[in-house]
Amino acid sequence: MERRELLKHCLLALGVSIAGPVSAFDLDRALGAAKSLTDAATISDQDLNAYFSQMAKETDQQNKVAPPGSSYGKRLTALTQGLSSHDGLKLNFKVYQTSEVNAFAMGDGTVRVYSGLMDMMSDDEVRYVIGHEIGHIKAGHSKKRMQMALTTGGLRDAVAATGSKAAALTDSQLGELFQKVILAQHSQSNENEADDYAMAFLKNKKYDPKAAVSALEKLDKLSGGGSASWLSTHPAPAERAQRMRSQIG
Ligand SMILES: [Zn+2]
Repeated sequence: MERRELLKHCLLALGVSIAGPVSAFDLDRALGAAKSLTDAATISDQDLNAYFSQMAKETDQQNKVAPPGSSYGKRLTALTQGLSSHDGLKLNFKVYQTSEVNAFAMGDGTVRVYSGLMDMMSDDEVRYVIGHEIGHIKAGHSKKRMQMALTTGGLRDAVAATGSKAAALTDSQLGELFQKVILAQHSQSNENEADDYAMAFLKNKKYDPKAAVSALEKLDKLSGGGSASWLSTHPAPAERAQRMRSQIG
């Protein structure tokens, strides 16, 4: 699959599929097939971040990044004020200008929000999405996938060949990595964990916690509500909205 096509598939980072299912990286199978998990553990945080940075650079080049002075750039800057250093994490935020409704995060603190999502959401709803993405980073969800992706399949040899130093990956290797780490579905428990983090984030910052509910309801409407396009391991946004509703108060 072409890299551009890969990037067109959407919303997996939010646990929501609009375009339909994408063949997902089967983490369970990968875990089973990995020769040894100790291999994954030998990749240092520093090297993992180096791979994330390569991936972020590549996807930033492949997408139209909204300039800081543009209306999208200004809005995201305002919504992420004070978050470049948050909860022990170094974070960086950019808008991808596209009609797609999506957002994703990487283990190195990279957060990307699509303008299509910003268009349909209120400020506090975008904050819910941002909180959700930070939740994935804080919990190390994409780091775990990155470790698996780098120590299984074709990338294993490329990474092993450089020993203790992070390898400079080719465009196609970065494409493979993006698919396995960013476009693959998060598990239901990961999504709930990120949602819980987002709810706590909204409450702590004194934003409207109901925004988590309304954001998920909007996503639900967009997807046709629990249609066959939902990835099997993800709770429908309607259910997640209900879950979030139960945490308000
Ligand atoms: Zn998510």
